Amino acid sequence: MYPWIYTRAKEQPDDLALITDTERLTWSALYTKAHQLASSWALLLSRGDRIALYGPSSTAYIIAIHAAQLLELTIVPINIRLSQTEVNAQLKRADVKYVISDRLLDSTVKRLPFQATRQAPDILVRHMPKHYIQSMLFTSGTTGQPKAVEQTMLNHFSSAMNAARHIGSLPDDRFLVVTPLFHMSGLAVVYRSVIYGAPLILEPHFSPNKTIHWIKTEAVTHISLVSVMLDRLLEAGLRRYDLRVVLTGGGPVPLPILTRALDRGIPVMQTYGMTETASQIATLLPEDAIRKIGSAGKAIAPTEIRITRYQEIEVKGPTVMNGYFANSDATAAAFTPDGYLKTGDLGRIDPEGYLYVLDRRSDLIISGGENVYPAEVEAALLSISGVTEAGVVGRFDPTWGQVPVAFIVSTLEETSVRQQMERLVAKYKCPVAYIYRDTLPRNANGKLIRRQLKESL
Ligand code: ATP
Ligand code: MG
Repeated sequence: MYPWIYTRAKEQPDDLALITDTERLTWSALYTKAHQLASSWALLLSRGDRIALYGPSSTAYIIAIHAAQLLELTIVPINIRLSQTEVNAQLKRADVKYVISDRLLDSTVKRLPFQATRQAPDILVRHMPKHYIQSMLFTSGTTGQPKAVEQTMLNHFSSAMNAARHIGSLPDDRFLVVTPLFHMSGLAVVYRSVIYGAPLILEPHFSPNKTIHWIKTEAVTHISLVSVMLDRLLEAGLRRYDLRVVLTGGGPVPLPILTRALDRGIPVMQTYGMTETASQIATLLPEDAIRKIGSAGKAIAPTEIRITRYQEIEVKGPTVMNGYFANSDATAAAFTPDGYLKTGDLGRIDPEGYLYVLDRRSDLIISGGENVYPAEVEAALLSISGVTEAGVVGRFDPTWGQVPVAFIVSTLEETSVRQQMERLVAKYKCPVAYIYRDTLPRNANGKLIRRQLKESL
Protein backbone atom coordinates (compact mmCIF):
# COMPACT_ATOMS: atom_id res chain seq x y z
CA MET A 1 0.00 0.00 0.00
CA TYR A 2 1.18 3.53 -0.79
CA PRO A 3 0.89 6.23 1.88
CA TRP A 4 -2.78 7.11 2.08
CA ILE A 5 -2.37 10.83 1.43
CA TYR A 6 -0.52 10.05 -1.82
CA THR A 7 -3.28 7.73 -3.06
CA ARG A 8 -5.99 10.16 -2.03
CA ALA A 9 -4.31 13.08 -3.86
CA LYS A 10 -4.12 10.95 -7.00
CA GLU A 11 -7.73 9.77 -6.76
CA GLN A 12 -9.53 12.96 -5.74
CA PRO A 13 -7.05 15.86 -6.11
CA ASP A 14 -9.66 18.63 -6.15
CA ASP A 15 -12.01 17.35 -3.47
CA LEU A 16 -12.05 18.97 -0.05
CA ALA A 17 -9.80 17.27 2.49
CA LEU A 18 -9.57 19.56 5.50
CA ILE A 19 -11.66 22.39 6.89
CA THR A 20 -10.65 24.57 9.84
CA ASP A 21 -11.64 28.02 11.04
CA THR A 22 -9.12 29.62 8.71
CA GLU A 23 -8.47 27.15 5.88
CA ARG A 24 -10.02 24.82 3.32
CA LEU A 25 -7.54 22.45 1.69
CA THR A 26 -8.00 19.92 -1.10
CA TRP A 27 -6.36 16.49 -1.07
CA SER A 28 -3.77 17.65 -3.56
CA ALA A 29 -2.90 20.76 -1.49
CA LEU A 30 -2.68 18.67 1.67
CA TYR A 31 -0.46 16.13 -0.07
CA THR A 32 1.86 18.85 -1.43
CA LYS A 33 2.32 20.28 2.07
CA ALA A 34 2.87 16.86 3.64
CA HIS A 35 5.37 15.97 0.93
CA GLN A 36 7.26 19.23 1.45
CA LEU A 37 7.42 18.65 5.18
CA ALA A 38 8.55 15.04 4.75
CA SER A 39 11.24 16.17 2.31
CA SER A 40 12.50 18.74 4.79
CA TRP A 41 12.71 16.05 7.49
CA ALA A 42 14.46 13.52 5.24
CA LEU A 43 17.99 14.57 6.13
CA LEU A 44 17.33 14.38 9.86
CA LEU A 45 15.07 11.39 10.17
CA SER A 46 14.89 7.96 8.62
CA ARG A 47 12.33 5.14 8.49
CA GLY A 48 11.52 3.65 11.84
CA ASP A 49 12.45 6.78 13.81
CA ARG A 50 9.99 7.97 16.41
CA ILE A 51 8.83 11.59 16.54
CA ALA A 52 6.60 13.10 19.19
CA LEU A 53 3.81 15.46 18.11
CA TYR A 54 3.03 18.08 20.73
CA GLY A 55 0.45 20.76 20.11
CA PRO A 56 -3.27 21.47 19.76
CA SER A 57 -5.26 20.08 16.82
CA SER A 58 -4.35 22.15 13.74
CA THR A 59 -3.74 21.94 10.01
CA ALA A 60 -0.02 21.65 10.72
CA TYR A 61 -0.65 18.69 13.02
CA ILE A 62 -2.60 16.87 10.29
CA ILE A 63 0.14 17.60 7.76
CA ALA A 64 2.73 16.17 10.16
CA ILE A 65 0.69 12.96 10.58
CA HIS A 66 0.71 12.44 6.80
CA ALA A 67 4.35 13.51 6.39
CA ALA A 68 5.37 10.89 8.95
CA GLN A 69 3.67 8.18 6.91
CA LEU A 70 5.50 9.31 3.75
CA LEU A 71 8.81 8.68 5.56
CA GLU A 72 7.62 5.61 7.53
CA LEU A 73 8.20 7.37 10.83
CA THR A 74 6.32 6.44 13.99
CA ILE A 75 4.33 9.32 15.45
CA VAL A 76 3.97 9.64 19.21
CA PRO A 77 1.17 12.13 19.92
CA ILE A 78 1.59 13.66 23.37
CA ASN A 79 -1.23 14.92 25.59
CA ILE A 80 -0.91 18.72 25.83
CA ARG A 81 -2.65 18.80 29.20
CA LEU A 82 0.20 16.94 30.90
CA SER A 83 2.65 18.84 33.09
CA GLN A 84 6.14 19.54 31.77
CA THR A 85 7.54 16.76 33.98
CA GLU A 86 4.99 14.26 32.66
CA VAL A 87 5.68 15.32 29.06
CA ASN A 88 9.41 14.80 29.59
CA ALA A 89 8.79 11.39 31.13
CA GLN A 90 6.73 10.32 28.09
CA LEU A 91 9.29 11.68 25.61
CA LYS A 92 11.91 9.68 27.41
CA ARG A 93 9.85 6.51 27.66
CA ALA A 94 8.99 6.70 23.97
CA ASP A 95 12.66 7.30 23.15
CA VAL A 96 11.81 9.83 20.42
CA LYS A 97 14.42 11.38 18.17
CA TYR A 98 12.65 14.73 17.83
CA VAL A 99 9.65 16.44 19.28
CA ILE A 100 7.61 18.36 16.71
CA SER A 101 6.23 21.39 18.47
CA ASP A 102 5.79 25.12 18.05
CA ARG A 103 6.25 25.68 21.76
CA LEU A 104 9.60 25.88 23.46
CA LEU A 105 9.86 22.89 25.77
CA ASP A 106 12.10 22.52 28.76
CA SER A 107 13.41 19.21 27.48
CA THR A 108 16.66 17.65 26.32
CA VAL A 109 14.93 16.16 23.27
CA LYS A 110 15.65 18.10 20.07
CA ARG A 111 12.73 20.11 18.74
CA LEU A 112 11.51 20.86 15.23
CA PRO A 113 8.65 23.26 14.43
CA PHE A 114 5.57 21.96 12.60
CA GLN A 115 6.38 24.09 9.54
CA ALA A 116 9.03 22.90 7.05
CA THR A 117 12.17 24.87 7.85
CA ARG A 118 14.23 24.25 4.75
CA GLN A 119 13.90 23.64 1.05
CA ALA A 120 15.01 20.10 0.38
CA PRO A 121 15.12 17.71 -2.57
CA ASP A 122 11.83 15.86 -3.05
CA ILE A 123 11.62 12.45 -1.42
CA LEU A 124 10.41 9.43 -3.37
CA VAL A 125 7.12 7.90 -2.32
CA ARG A 126 7.44 4.20 -1.45
CA HIS A 127 5.10 1.37 -0.55
CA MET A 128 4.62 0.97 3.18
CA PRO A 129 5.65 -2.36 4.67
CA LYS A 130 2.79 -4.32 6.28
CA HIS A 131 4.03 -4.19 9.82
CA TYR A 132 5.22 -0.60 9.83
CA ILE A 133 4.53 0.87 13.27
CA GLN A 134 2.67 3.96 12.30
CA SER A 135 1.84 5.35 15.69
CA MET A 136 2.60 4.88 19.30
CA LEU A 137 -0.21 6.15 21.41
CA PHE A 138 -0.35 6.42 25.15
CA THR A 139 -3.49 5.04 26.79
CA SER A 140 -5.61 7.57 28.66
CA GLY A 141 -4.07 6.74 32.03
CA THR A 142 -7.44 6.19 33.66
CA THR A 143 -6.32 3.25 35.76
CA GLY A 144 -2.63 4.02 36.23
CA GLN A 145 0.37 5.25 34.27
CA PRO A 146 -0.44 5.62 30.57
CA LYS A 147 0.95 2.68 28.54
CA ALA A 148 2.61 3.17 25.14
CA VAL A 149 0.74 1.10 22.55
CA GLU A 150 2.41 0.23 19.24
CA GLN A 151 -0.10 0.48 16.41
CA THR A 152 0.73 -0.80 12.96
CA MET A 153 -0.44 0.56 9.64
CA LEU A 154 -2.54 -2.60 9.28
CA ASN A 155 -4.18 -2.07 12.67
CA HIS A 156 -5.39 1.37 11.57
CA PHE A 157 -6.34 0.24 8.07
CA SER A 158 -8.34 -2.74 9.35
CA SER A 159 -10.02 -0.55 11.92
CA ALA A 160 -11.18 1.90 9.21
CA MET A 161 -12.27 -0.75 6.70
CA ASN A 162 -14.10 -2.96 9.16
CA ALA A 163 -15.90 -0.02 10.78
CA ALA A 164 -17.00 1.23 7.34
CA ARG A 165 -18.56 -2.13 6.59
CA HIS A 166 -20.20 -2.36 10.01
CA ILE A 167 -21.70 1.14 10.17
CA GLY A 168 -21.72 2.02 6.45
CA SER A 169 -19.96 4.76 4.53
CA LEU A 170 -21.34 7.07 1.85
CA PRO A 171 -19.78 9.48 -0.68
CA ASP A 172 -21.03 12.56 1.19
CA ASP A 173 -19.59 11.56 4.58
CA ARG A 174 -18.04 14.48 6.49
CA PHE A 175 -16.22 13.99 9.77
CA LEU A 176 -16.04 16.54 12.56
CA VAL A 177 -13.27 16.02 15.12
CA VAL A 178 -13.67 17.76 18.47
CA THR A 179 -11.77 15.21 20.57
CA PRO A 180 -7.98 15.52 20.93
CA LEU A 181 -5.76 13.92 18.29
CA PHE A 182 -3.52 12.47 21.00
CA HIS A 183 -6.26 10.01 21.94
CA MET A 184 -7.49 7.11 19.86
CA SER A 185 -10.91 8.50 19.00
CA GLY A 186 -9.46 11.62 17.37
CA LEU A 187 -6.50 10.02 15.61
CA ALA A 188 -8.66 7.22 14.19
CA VAL A 189 -10.84 9.77 12.41
CA VAL A 190 -7.83 11.42 10.74
CA TYR A 191 -6.90 8.04 9.26
CA ARG A 192 -10.49 7.21 8.30
CA SER A 193 -10.86 10.53 6.54
CA VAL A 194 -7.85 9.88 4.30
CA ILE A 195 -8.64 6.18 3.76
CA TYR A 196 -12.25 6.88 2.73
CA GLY A 197 -11.59 10.24 1.04
CA ALA A 198 -14.04 12.11 3.26
CA PRO A 199 -13.35 15.69 4.38
CA LEU A 200 -12.27 16.32 7.95
CA ILE A 201 -13.48 19.33 9.89
CA LEU A 202 -11.12 20.09 12.72
CA GLU A 203 -12.00 21.99 15.89
CA PRO A 204 -9.23 22.28 18.49
CA HIS A 205 -11.38 23.35 21.45
CA PHE A 206 -14.64 21.61 22.22
CA SER A 207 -17.50 24.01 22.82
CA PRO A 208 -21.15 22.98 22.42
CA ASN A 209 -22.21 26.05 20.43
CA LYS A 210 -19.26 25.94 18.06
CA THR A 211 -19.77 22.22 17.52
CA ILE A 212 -23.44 22.73 16.64
CA HIS A 213 -22.39 25.57 14.34
CA TRP A 214 -20.00 23.26 12.46
CA ILE A 215 -22.61 20.49 12.25
CA LYS A 216 -25.13 22.93 10.75
CA THR A 217 -22.92 24.88 8.37
CA GLU A 218 -20.69 22.07 7.09
CA ALA A 219 -23.30 19.31 6.76
CA VAL A 220 -21.38 17.11 9.19
CA THR A 221 -22.42 13.44 9.04
CA HIS A 222 -20.04 11.84 11.59
CA ILE A 223 -18.83 12.89 15.02
CA SER A 224 -17.25 10.99 17.94
CA LEU A 225 -18.07 12.08 21.47
CA VAL A 226 -17.64 11.06 25.07
CA SER A 227 -20.73 11.21 27.25
CA VAL A 228 -20.02 14.57 28.94
CA MET A 229 -19.73 16.17 25.50
CA LEU A 230 -22.98 14.62 24.31
CA ASP A 231 -24.68 15.82 27.47
CA ARG A 232 -23.48 19.40 26.94
CA LEU A 233 -24.48 19.32 23.27
CA LEU A 234 -27.99 18.19 24.21
CA GLU A 235 -28.19 21.04 26.74
CA ALA A 236 -27.18 23.45 23.98
CA GLY A 237 -29.98 22.19 21.72
CA LEU A 238 -28.30 19.63 19.45
CA ARG A 239 -30.68 18.19 16.87
CA ARG A 240 -30.21 15.64 14.12
CA TYR A 241 -29.32 17.98 11.22
CA ASP A 242 -27.40 15.86 8.66
CA LEU A 243 -25.82 13.61 11.28
CA ARG A 244 -25.78 9.92 10.45
CA VAL A 245 -23.25 8.64 12.97
CA VAL A 246 -22.78 9.99 16.48
CA LEU A 247 -20.30 7.59 18.03
CA THR A 248 -20.27 7.64 21.80
CA GLY A 249 -17.70 5.71 23.73
CA GLY A 250 -14.50 5.88 25.65
CA GLY A 251 -16.50 5.08 28.76
CA PRO A 252 -20.01 4.24 29.82
CA VAL A 253 -22.75 6.56 28.58
CA PRO A 254 -25.52 6.92 31.16
CA LEU A 255 -28.90 5.75 29.85
CA PRO A 256 -30.71 9.06 30.48
CA ILE A 257 -28.28 10.80 28.12
CA LEU A 258 -28.72 8.11 25.46
CA THR A 259 -32.49 8.26 25.78
CA ARG A 260 -32.57 12.04 25.48
CA ALA A 261 -30.47 11.89 22.32
CA LEU A 262 -32.55 9.11 20.77
CA ASP A 263 -35.78 10.98 21.58
CA ARG A 264 -34.50 13.83 19.43
CA GLY A 265 -33.74 11.47 16.57
CA ILE A 266 -29.99 11.83 17.01
CA PRO A 267 -28.36 8.67 15.65
CA VAL A 268 -26.20 7.81 18.66
CA MET A 269 -24.20 4.62 18.36
CA GLN A 270 -22.70 3.28 21.55
CA THR A 271 -19.27 1.95 20.79
CA TYR A 272 -16.59 0.03 22.66
CA GLY A 273 -12.88 0.01 22.06
CA MET A 274 -9.52 1.01 23.43
CA THR A 275 -6.11 2.25 22.40
CA GLU A 276 -4.85 -1.35 22.33
CA THR A 277 -7.43 -2.20 19.63
CA ALA A 278 -6.89 0.91 17.46
CA SER A 279 -10.36 2.23 18.37
CA GLN A 280 -13.80 0.62 18.13
CA ILE A 281 -14.31 -3.15 18.17
CA ALA A 282 -18.07 -3.20 18.81
CA THR A 283 -20.75 -0.70 17.84
CA LEU A 284 -24.52 -0.62 18.32
CA LEU A 285 -26.37 0.25 15.12
CA PRO A 286 -29.35 2.68 15.08
CA GLU A 287 -31.86 -0.07 14.27
CA ASP A 288 -31.01 -1.68 17.62
CA ALA A 289 -30.60 1.56 19.56
CA ILE A 290 -33.81 1.27 21.57
CA ARG A 291 -34.17 -2.51 21.69
CA LYS A 292 -30.61 -2.92 22.98
CA ILE A 293 -30.14 0.36 24.80
CA GLY A 294 -27.08 0.22 27.06
CA SER A 295 -25.31 -2.28 24.81
CA ALA A 296 -22.16 -1.48 22.84
CA GLY A 297 -23.50 -3.63 20.00
CA LYS A 298 -22.01 -6.58 18.20
CA ALA A 299 -18.33 -7.19 17.58
CA ILE A 300 -17.12 -5.63 14.35
CA ALA A 301 -16.21 -8.60 12.13
CA PRO A 302 -13.75 -10.19 11.84
CA THR A 303 -12.83 -9.17 15.40
CA GLU A 304 -13.90 -11.72 17.99
CA ILE A 305 -14.98 -10.88 21.50
CA ARG A 306 -15.42 -13.45 24.25
CA ILE A 307 -16.19 -13.31 27.96
CA THR A 308 -14.25 -15.37 30.47
CA ARG A 309 -15.84 -17.08 33.42
CA TYR A 310 -14.63 -14.15 35.52
CA GLN A 311 -16.64 -11.85 33.20
CA GLU A 312 -13.58 -10.27 31.61
CA ILE A 313 -13.84 -9.16 27.97
CA GLU A 314 -11.15 -10.67 25.71
CA VAL A 315 -10.52 -9.68 22.11
CA LYS A 316 -8.76 -11.06 19.06
CA GLY A 317 -8.61 -9.47 15.63
CA PRO A 318 -6.67 -7.47 13.05
CA THR A 319 -6.88 -4.19 14.95
CA VAL A 320 -5.35 -5.56 18.15
CA MET A 321 -1.83 -4.28 18.92
CA ASN A 322 1.22 -6.52 18.86
CA GLY A 323 2.26 -5.11 22.18
CA TYR A 324 3.33 -2.24 24.39
CA PHE A 325 6.53 -0.46 23.44
CA ALA A 326 9.68 -1.77 25.10
CA ASN A 327 7.72 -3.53 27.80
CA SER A 328 7.68 -7.25 27.15
CA ASP A 329 6.41 -8.00 30.66
CA ALA A 330 3.33 -5.83 30.26
CA THR A 331 2.77 -7.24 26.76
CA ALA A 332 3.03 -10.83 27.97
CA ALA A 333 0.63 -10.07 30.82
CA ALA A 334 -1.89 -8.53 28.39
CA PHE A 335 -2.42 -11.66 26.27
CA THR A 336 -3.83 -15.13 26.90
CA PRO A 337 -1.87 -18.19 25.70
CA ASP A 338 -4.24 -18.44 22.70
CA GLY A 339 -3.59 -14.85 21.66
CA TYR A 340 -6.59 -12.92 23.02
CA LEU A 341 -6.08 -9.47 24.50
CA LYS A 342 -7.25 -9.24 28.10
CA THR A 343 -9.05 -5.89 28.14
CA GLY A 344 -9.34 -5.46 31.91
CA ASP A 345 -13.02 -4.66 31.36
CA LEU A 346 -15.96 -6.69 32.57
CA GLY A 347 -18.91 -7.42 30.35
CA ARG A 348 -21.56 -9.84 29.21
CA ILE A 349 -22.81 -10.94 25.80
CA ASP A 350 -26.52 -11.64 25.41
CA PRO A 351 -27.86 -14.63 23.46
CA GLU A 352 -28.11 -12.50 20.30
CA GLY A 353 -24.43 -11.57 20.50
CA TYR A 354 -24.74 -8.03 21.88
CA LEU A 355 -22.02 -6.85 24.21
CA TYR A 356 -22.76 -5.01 27.45
CA VAL A 357 -19.73 -3.41 29.06
CA LEU A 358 -20.16 -3.43 32.82
CA ASP A 359 -17.08 -1.76 34.21
CA ARG A 360 -13.35 -1.99 34.66
CA ARG A 361 -12.23 -5.07 36.52
CA SER A 362 -10.01 -2.96 38.75
CA ASP A 363 -12.96 -0.77 39.82
CA LEU A 364 -15.36 -3.58 40.65
CA ILE A 365 -16.62 -3.35 44.22
CA ILE A 366 -17.35 -6.67 45.89
CA SER A 367 -19.62 -5.98 48.83
CA GLY A 368 -20.69 -8.90 51.00
CA GLY A 369 -20.08 -11.23 48.06
CA GLU A 370 -22.24 -9.18 45.66
CA ASN A 371 -20.78 -7.40 42.62
CA VAL A 372 -21.35 -3.67 42.59
CA TYR A 373 -20.46 -1.99 39.28
CA PRO A 374 -19.60 1.66 39.94
CA ALA A 375 -20.82 2.62 36.46
CA GLU A 376 -24.30 1.32 37.25
CA VAL A 377 -24.48 3.23 40.53
CA GLU A 378 -23.13 6.39 38.86
CA ALA A 379 -25.76 6.09 36.13
CA ALA A 380 -28.49 5.84 38.79
CA LEU A 381 -27.11 8.92 40.55
CA LEU A 382 -27.01 10.85 37.28
CA SER A 383 -30.63 9.98 36.56
CA ILE A 384 -31.62 12.07 39.61
CA SER A 385 -32.30 15.61 38.48
CA GLY A 386 -30.02 17.92 40.45
CA VAL A 387 -27.05 15.52 40.38
CA THR A 388 -24.74 16.69 37.60
CA GLU A 389 -21.64 14.55 38.19
CA ALA A 390 -21.08 11.29 40.03
CA GLY A 391 -18.19 8.97 40.80
CA VAL A 392 -18.41 5.79 42.86
CA VAL A 393 -15.54 3.89 44.47
CA GLY A 394 -15.14 1.10 47.00
CA ARG A 395 -14.03 1.67 50.59
CA PHE A 396 -12.75 -1.01 52.94
CA ASP A 397 -15.33 -2.24 55.39
CA PRO A 398 -14.70 -4.82 58.13
CA THR A 399 -18.13 -6.42 57.74
CA TRP A 400 -18.79 -6.30 53.99
CA GLY A 401 -15.23 -6.31 52.64
CA GLN A 402 -16.00 -3.20 50.61
CA VAL A 403 -18.82 -0.68 50.45
CA PRO A 404 -19.65 1.89 47.74
CA VAL A 405 -18.97 5.56 48.45
CA ALA A 406 -20.24 8.31 46.12
CA PHE A 407 -18.61 11.57 45.11
CA ILE A 408 -21.19 13.92 43.65
CA VAL A 409 -21.64 17.38 42.24
CA SER A 410 -25.15 18.30 43.26
CA THR A 411 -27.47 21.01 44.53
CA LEU A 412 -29.58 18.47 46.46
CA GLU A 413 -29.41 17.63 50.15
CA GLU A 414 -27.80 14.30 50.97
CA THR A 415 -31.00 12.86 52.47
CA SER A 416 -32.89 13.54 49.27
CA VAL A 417 -30.22 11.82 47.13
CA ARG A 418 -30.09 8.91 49.56
CA GLN A 419 -33.87 8.40 49.51
CA GLN A 420 -34.06 8.52 45.73
CA MET A 421 -31.18 6.05 45.40
CA GLU A 422 -32.94 3.58 47.68
CA ARG A 423 -35.83 3.57 45.20
CA LEU A 424 -33.53 3.20 42.18
CA VAL A 425 -31.07 0.44 43.10
CA ALA A 426 -30.73 -2.55 45.44
CA LYS A 427 -29.73 -1.76 49.02
CA TYR A 428 -26.23 -3.23 48.69
CA LYS A 429 -25.56 -0.89 45.73
CA CYS A 430 -26.58 2.25 47.64
CA PRO A 431 -23.59 4.40 48.59
CA VAL A 432 -22.93 4.41 52.34
CA ALA A 433 -21.52 7.93 52.15
CA TYR A 434 -21.87 10.95 49.89
CA ILE A 435 -18.98 13.32 49.44
CA TYR A 436 -19.80 16.65 47.81
CA ARG A 437 -17.37 18.22 45.34
CA ASP A 438 -17.36 21.22 42.98
CA THR A 439 -15.96 19.11 40.14
CA LEU A 440 -14.72 15.56 39.67
CA PRO A 441 -11.26 14.68 38.29
CA ARG A 442 -11.34 13.89 34.58
CA ASN A 443 -8.63 13.24 32.01
CA ALA A 444 -8.22 15.07 28.70
CA ASN A 445 -10.91 12.91 27.13
CA GLY A 446 -13.44 13.76 29.82
CA LYS A 447 -13.13 10.38 31.53
CA LEU A 448 -13.66 10.18 35.23
CA ILE A 449 -10.46 9.23 37.06
CA ARG A 450 -11.84 7.05 39.84
CA ARG A 451 -8.43 6.20 41.21
CA GLN A 452 -7.98 9.85 42.24
CA LEU A 453 -11.28 9.71 44.09
CA LYS A 454 -10.16 6.53 45.79
CA GLU A 455 -6.87 8.07 46.82
CA SER A 456 -8.73 10.98 48.40
CA LEU A 457 -10.82 8.73 50.67
P1 ATP B 1 -5.53 3.21 30.88
O1 ATP B 1 -5.48 1.97 30.04
O2 ATP B 1 -4.26 3.98 30.83
O3 ATP B 1 -6.03 3.01 32.25
P2 ATP B 1 -7.93 3.87 29.38
O4 ATP B 1 -8.20 2.41 29.44
O5 ATP B 1 -9.02 4.80 29.81
O6 ATP B 1 -6.61 4.21 30.21
P3 ATP B 1 -8.28 4.14 26.56
O7 ATP B 1 -7.59 3.13 25.73
O8 ATP B 1 -8.38 5.54 26.01
O9 ATP B 1 -7.51 4.25 27.91
O10 ATP B 1 -9.77 3.71 26.91
C1 ATP B 1 -10.27 2.41 26.73
C2 ATP B 1 -11.17 2.02 27.87
O11 ATP B 1 -12.33 2.89 27.93
C3 ATP B 1 -11.75 0.64 27.76
O12 ATP B 1 -10.84 -0.36 28.18
C4 ATP B 1 -12.97 0.75 28.69
O13 ATP B 1 -12.62 0.61 30.06
C5 ATP B 1 -13.45 2.17 28.46
N1 ATP B 1 -14.55 2.14 27.48
C6 ATP B 1 -14.47 2.34 26.16
N2 ATP B 1 -15.68 2.24 25.59
C7 ATP B 1 -16.55 1.95 26.57
C8 ATP B 1 -17.97 1.72 26.63
N3 ATP B 1 -18.75 1.78 25.56
N4 ATP B 1 -18.52 1.46 27.83
C9 ATP B 1 -17.76 1.39 28.93
N5 ATP B 1 -16.44 1.61 28.95
C10 ATP B 1 -15.83 1.88 27.79
MG1 MG C 1 -6.93 0.77 29.26
